[in-house]
Amino acid sequence: MAALVRRWVKPDVRAMGAYSVPSSAGLIKLDAMENPYGWPEELRRQWLEELDGVALNRYPDPRAGQLIAALRDYFEIPDNADLLIGNGSDELIQLLALALAGEGRVLMAPEPTFVMYRLIATFVGLRYRPVPLRTADFSLDVEAFEAAIAREQPALIFLASPNNPTGNALAPEAVLRIVERAPGLVVVDEAYLPFADHSFRGELGRHTNLLWMGTLSKMGLAGLRVGFLAGPAAWVDELDKLRLPYNSNVLSQASAAFALRHAEVLERQAQWIRGERARLQQSLDALDSIRAYPSQANFILFRTPAGRATEIFSALRRGGVLIKNLHGSAEALRDCLRVTVGQAEENQRFMQLLSEALQAPA
Ligand SMILES: *Cc1c(COP(=O)(O)O)cnc(C)c1O
Repeated sequence: MAALVRRWVKPDVRAMGAYSVPSSAGLIKLDAMENPYGWPEELRRQWLEELDGVALNRYPDPRAGQLIAALRDYFEIPDNADLLIGNGSDELIQLLALALAGEGRVLMAPEPTFVMYRLIATFVGLRYRPVPLRTADFSLDVEAFEAAIAREQPALIFLASPNNPTGNALAPEAVLRIVERAPGLVVVDEAYLPFADHSFRGELGRHTNLLWMGTLSKMGLAGLRVGFLAGPAAWVDELDKLRLPYNSNVLSQASAAFALRHAEVLERQAQWIRGERARLQQSLDALDSIRAYPSQANFILFRTPAGRATEIFSALRRGGVLIKNLHGSAEALRDCLRVTVGQAEENQRFMQLLSEALQAPA
């Protein structure tokens, strides 16, 4: 069978590593930027009642009209921008890459950033060209970016703000300069909008080559897989041709529209997460041997003493807390770990295990 697979599966796909999700059974899960809070009992009851009215024997509304209206309203998307729904924003990244791929075409993004940009570029046959962020604070190096744009003429640029896994927001003037210089499409990915102080969606309609992307995942609905892309109709219409007709299912459409009608619950939770983030940042800052980077997202990136990241990560997991080990994923992330902000007692357990691990002899 191996020979058969080798004969037919594309070489670049065979060479790829799979996107691996480690088992979290029995662990406090602080690895994937999920919202740690559930819904109040009464809201769950209302939601289930709503789902009771959904016809599972019918195909979904192919245009997800109700959900799009709810998103437009909630996120205050300007009238001159069109909206497209994805099965998570991951699917929208894939649609964008598929639409713009072609012989010699380039996808550009800062480094380090969200790993799916590189993965998707690889499997649709785009050349991936990362541009290093400044090492001191992971801010955009605009001059380096402009030089890379001039050299590579990228078809597509992704800028995540706040950025994953670094947590910082990108400076508006730097992002806008890149939008101006880019010969192709620039997508600002605001997956962490609910935890950030600034949004770029006010720029929609002011640039012919800017699209804005968001998701309900990090604000508390990761299981629904609802992402969205907003921008000029001319772009969105082309992308919509590549979208599979029923990419968003009836349960997700109904649940997401319901959740947005009760968004105050998610907003309150986002406020709790911001509060916990500040406490966690303070606790990390109090540890002499740890460097925690300021975050506008629902996670914090921190650097451990040289050579100790993997050992500390393992000690945390043995103690029942799963975070993300980034050591080895990029030079800029040497000795780095990333913790998602959890509920108060989860964060306390994390801090306790981290302090113990740091005190253990290296
Ligand atoms: C998590 C994340 C996404 C993916 O979100 P989904 O909607 O769950 O697919 C997109 N962009 C960034 C920067 C992320 O961190």
